Amino acid sequence: MGICSLCVAPHPTLRAVARPVVAFADDVRRLARDLIETMHAHEGIGLAAPQIGRDAQVFVANPSQRRGRELIVVNPILSGARGRTAVLEGCLSLPNVWGRVRRAAAVRLEGWDATGKPLVVEADGLLAVVLQHELDHLQGRLLIDRLPWFERRRAEARLRAAAACA
Ligand code: ZN
Repeated sequence: MGICSLCVAPHPTLRAVARPVVAFADDVRRLARDLIETMHAHEGIGLAAPQIGRDAQVFVANPSQRRGRELIVVNPILSGARGRTAVLEGCLSLPNVWGRVRRAAAVRLEGWDATGKPLVVEADGLLAVVLQHELDHLQGRLLIDRLPWFERRRAEARLRAAAACA
C-alpha cells in the first residue's frame, strides 16, 4: 500500500469508535507502515488509522518529523494526565482548520507496539498533545469538538466551504 489517501471531514470513519486490534499479525505491521508513509507524505506529526479509512485502534506519532523516530501505538489507554496546556492544533482530516485546544500538559499512555509488545509512553510538550489528539481520533472525536462553540461554528463553516469547492 504505502501512501494512502486521507479521509477528510465529514467522512463517517472519522466519527466511529475504532475497533481494538485482537491479533498482532502482519496486517498490523502493514497498517503501521502505511500510517507512517502517509504521515510523512503529508508532513504530519501524527496519524490515526481512521484517517486512512481503517477501522483499528492504531496510530503513529512523530513530533520531530524525523524518519525512524516514529512512535507506533496499538490499543492505547490513557493511564495518567496532569497539568494544562493549549496549543494551536491542525489535523490532516480538517483542511484549513486550526484551533487552540485545552489538553493535559503531560500524559501517560499504555498500549502495545506493532509486534504486540507492551508499551508505556510518558510524554509532555508537543508529544503529549499529539498523543491526546490521536487518542481522540480512535474514539471518533475531532479537535473541533473541543473548541468553544463559536470557534467550532466558524471551523464547520470553513469545512463546508472547502467541501463545496472540492
Ligand atoms: Zn487529526
